[in-house]
Amino acid sequence: MKFDEFPYKRLNINELKSKVDEIIGVFNSNSSFESQDQSLNQMNDLLAEYESYESIAGLNFNRDTTSEKYKAEKDYYDNLSPEFKDLKNQFNRAIMSSKCLPELKSKYGKHYFNIKATEQKTFDSKIINLLKKETELENEYTSIIAGAEIDFKGKTYNLSGLGPFHKSQDRAIRKESFKARYSFFDKNAEQLDDLYDRMVKLRHKIANQLGFENFIELGYYRLGRTDYGPEGVANFRKQIVEYIVPLVQKLNKQKQEILELDHLYYYDGIQYKEGDPKPKENPDKMVDAAKKMYNDLSKETGEFFEMMVDENLLDLVNRDGKMGGGFCTAFPKYERPYIFSNFNGTAHDVTVLTHEAGHAFQCYSSRKQPLVEYLWPTLEACEIHSMSMEFFTWPWMDLFFKEEVERFKYMHIVDSLSFLPYGACVDHFQHWVYENPEATPKKRKNKWLKLEKIYLPDRDYDDLDFPKSGGFWQGQLHIYQMPFYYIDYTLAQTCAFQFWIKSQNNMKTAWEDYYRLCKVGGSMPFTGLIDIAKLKSPFKDGTLKTVSEYVFNWLDSINPKEL
Ligand SMILES: [Zn+2]
Repeated sequence: MKFDEFPYKRLNINELKSKVDEIIGVFNSNSSFESQDQSLNQMNDLLAEYESYESIAGLNFNRDTTSEKYKAEKDYYDNLSPEFKDLKNQFNRAIMSSKCLPELKSKYGKHYFNIKATEQKTFDSKIINLLKKETELENEYTSIIAGAEIDFKGKTYNLSGLGPFHKSQDRAIRKESFKARYSFFDKNAEQLDDLYDRMVKLRHKIANQLGFENFIELGYYRLGRTDYGPEGVANFRKQIVEYIVPLVQKLNKQKQEILELDHLYYYDGIQYKEGDPKPKENPDKMVDAAKKMYNDLSKETGEFFEMMVDENLLDLVNRDGKMGGGFCTAFPKYERPYIFSNFNGTAHDVTVLTHEAGHAFQCYSSRKQPLVEYLWPTLEACEIHSMSMEFFTWPWMDLFFKEEVERFKYMHIVDSLSFLPYGACVDHFQHWVYENPEATPKKRKNKWLKLEKIYLPDRDYDDLDFPKSGGFWQGQLHIYQMPFYYIDYTLAQTCAFQFWIKSQNNMKTAWEDYYRLCKVGGSMPFTGLIDIAKLKSPFKDGTLKTVSEYVFNWLDSINPKEL
């Protein structure tokens, strides 16, 4: 079956209610393990169906944000989501008070029940309307950003479309393109401030209604974090400031020399004077190259990628009306993932393809997990699959970059290491924001600037007024739409670097560890998965230091000017 043939329909809330009522009724009235296990499976099938339709509705809209029909379907599921959460919550309550809990735990592992307990903390039927409001605000951000029509050099671009100019080898073009980008943000400044203000206050209110002091604890529970808290994350950020910020400053110095500039500004975001390495092929040829790559890498990845192509489970190229960014989604009922991206001719096209293929490959490898909840792990673990896949595919990068392949690899590591302080900055900012929900938009911008000084001390915006006055973060979708999902990338990068190191020493065992990790899906929390993959925890003092020293030594052994 191809993607367009996947059955889709609107599930009706009354029908869902009577189905769930019936499942709960049977669950409570028959307390034998076999019967309760059967009810659990019926609920699981319903969940798989619901999530598949919801995911199709969201994806279709992202593929064409101008379609009224797709918008209506997405709105339908957005509106249904809190009501369905209510039903799930009722089932969760039944499960958690079951007499068969020990038998159920021995069949499915205790993690499922930790997930259920966490879900219960994040929901109450009294917040349904507030949750609907929250989704509306999140969608407002999407429509502002997706609606960007930016005039640049006689043409109109969306924000993704402007991307290649930010990477131009001509400094004036780079600067002008950022000016164009920020004139868009400047025009929408008040709206973006006001929107975020309403979001923060609304989330604070939801947290209060659920009995939390502020949104932070709730935010962690929403992300399903059952095995670490804000203190562990703060300690990890501290290590980034201590070990990574100085390394990135050295790399910036080196970049300035390569580019032969007397000062590095924010818009000098390229690694080479001649421009950064670009993929040499058109998107169709890149898919062919990816087929070869995944067939060579392993039997499993070969089958997986052939299937993605055959069943039209890829939408890769940027076009008008398409939502920006890249992501992977899945349809559990059909046991299939989907890759969405916006190719625009830069090296990022290749990394986004391998990154999202990492997510999709994990999801596909976990498709036989017994519970929908085990299809994906928590997000910091998900990003290990994706970021490590970027590295596992290194031996085939010459298919995409030809003679520029060594430059690509150098740039890939520099970018990955340089990302860590920015990721931590975004996270630190969000903790402050939700600790201080009454802060004004102006205060938020000032705080951002202060944090930039700590995490990104070299950053100089020149006369780009919008980011210079503290607005940079407003282009970061996660801050609006997925609070506290950002440190995940830095935790995962620390793990992905470990896979990179392992793969250089022994590709075979590195791949075995990775594939084992993919197959267990979300059946364990983050720290459990790390053990399964034989990785060192980023939360352990010293892990980041050891890993970053290895990475930096590798960079130091290379003369980037000779590549
Ligand atoms: Zn990802």
